[in-house]
Amino acid sequence: MNQEDWKEKYKQLALDMDALQDRTDDKSLKHLLFNMAVALEGQSEILDSSLANLRNVLKGDERGNAFDSVVKLVGKEVRGLEQDQERSRHELLQALQRWLRQLRQQLTTDLSIERLSQAESVSTSVVHHPLQLPGLMNDLLALQEPLLAEDSYSRQELVTNDLSASLSSNGPEVNDLAVEDDELLLQQISAELLTLMSGLHIPKADRDNARKLIIEIERGVKLNTLPTVIHDLVKLIADVTAHGGADFENYLLNLTGQLAEVQSFLVDSRKEEEVGGREVSELSRLIHQDVDQIHRVVSESMDLHALKQEVSTQLLGIVKSVDQYKRQEDSRELTLLQRYKEMNSRLEQMEQETLKVKVHMEAERLKAMTDPLTSLPNRAGYDEQIAAELARWQRYKHHFSVVVADLDLFKAINDGFGHLAGDKVLRLIGSILTRRCRSTDYVARYGGEEFVVLMPATTAAEAKIAMEKVRQAIATSPFNFHGKPVTVTMSFGIAEIQGQETADELFERADKALYKAKREGRNRVELG
Ligand code: GH3
Ligand code: MG
Ligand code: MG
Repeated sequence: MNQEDWKEKYKQLALDMDALQDRTDDKSLKHLLFNMAVALEGQSEILDSSLANLRNVLKGDERGNAFDSVVKLVGKEVRGLEQDQERSRHELLQALQRWLRQLRQQLTTDLSIERLSQAESVSTSVVHHPLQLPGLMNDLLALQEPLLAEDSYSRQELVTNDLSASLSSNGPEVNDLAVEDDELLLQQISAELLTLMSGLHIPKADRDNARKLIIEIERGVKLNTLPTVIHDLVKLIADVTAHGGADFENYLLNLTGQLAEVQSFLVDSRKEEEVGGREVSELSRLIHQDVDQIHRVVSESMDLHALKQEVSTQLLGIVKSVDQYKRQEDSRELTLLQRYKEMNSRLEQMEQETLKVKVHMEAERLKAMTDPLTSLPNRAGYDEQIAAELARWQRYKHHFSVVVADLDLFKAINDGFGHLAGDKVLRLIGSILTRRCRSTDYVARYGGEEFVVLMPATTAAEAKIAMEKVRQAIATSPFNFHGKPVTVTMSFGIAEIQGQETADELFERADKALYKAKREGRNRVELG
């Protein structure tokens, strides 16, 4: 994948994010983090173990402390990694410069010195652009190879000369010195190669090869194995940079996928909820800003490792923003819950008050339908009861009778014994009527000294028999006024419901029967 492709991918990413409106949820966040953790793997062992922890936390349902501390740790180690990389770059640069210095001392031809100068000019930038490293190393090897061959040839020549010389004089000393030089040079080269390797970021996949190579170099490079070792090292560096590129490509593909997922979630959530509008647009702004930053860095940078670091930092920023939004949303939910609870308790309070009012109104209604003197239902009570009874009659045709009863010559009692005595009689009559009637009968004081009895499931004839008994009970009751026994009587008119009669018509008939009883001498029960 080349630079233009990265740019294209990021332009697309930025366009994707233009549509970002809303917020993310735990699932998308977890998915995003999980893939991030996978993509970041292979940088260092310590980071790998933190990323494994992060993935474990993400696999579970845990959020909160464990999650926060793992995310913090990963962030810290990613920053630490950057410092390590900086140190490695520095060491790599030093190793390259020593190599270049040694070559400069040994090279003799103008052409090779010119090529060395070119390599020197590249060496400072190569630490930031690992892709250039294999090329530079190949150049340096090409410059070094003739020197090694020359060295070997001249040493052979020296040995032959010395052999012939030794036959005649003290040659072996020179030979020993040459071998020592050779050893020293090879040791130096081994040390340089090891320094160079320590400056490489070796991904997991290449670590075995790298380890084998290090062991081989540490055992001691021989003159004849040196070209193979260097060849292996160049190959490893090429692999590392190629692998790094593929790794990064996967990483960016994942990133694009995850951001698209975040986006679709945000769009969905927007439809669901408009409440958190302000926080959502702030979140969207932050994510947009982070993605713009990624886009800029990708356009400006050539260095894949630096890019990866930068993208990771930006992603951590996005995750942080999403997390913060999540916290804001949680606190908003908490406020809503509190308000809901308050409203609920107010509602309960209102319900209780309504109940109190209802009870009060019912009491008032009963009071309005009760006669205070006799505590019997009054005319309003009777009106309500007769309406209910009529409705039942219309539906079930259960017969019922109405009795209108009026005290005989009550005016005389009032006149003769006083109004209070009259009241006492009214109370006594009320209690006799109630006691003598069935519990299903409805006794009311209609007004003055007039009472009504509503008798469900009772024919006029049955009502007459019952009222005869009441009449007799009243007539034989011992009323005493000022120590003098007084007879109190009552007249009754009865009417049984018939046809489509109204309450008034029924009452009218019973009232007529009552007047008939009055007319015919009082203390009588008459049917209407
Ligand atoms: P009748 O046999 O024809 O019914 O004669 P009456 O005297 O009972 O009838 P009238 O209508 O002439 O008189 C009714 C009396 O009842 C008049 C009124 O003073 C008395 N009365 C009505 N309400 C009350 C009350 O609440 N207390 C008392 N003490 N008397 C009442
Ligand atoms: Mg009367
Ligand atoms: Mg009357």
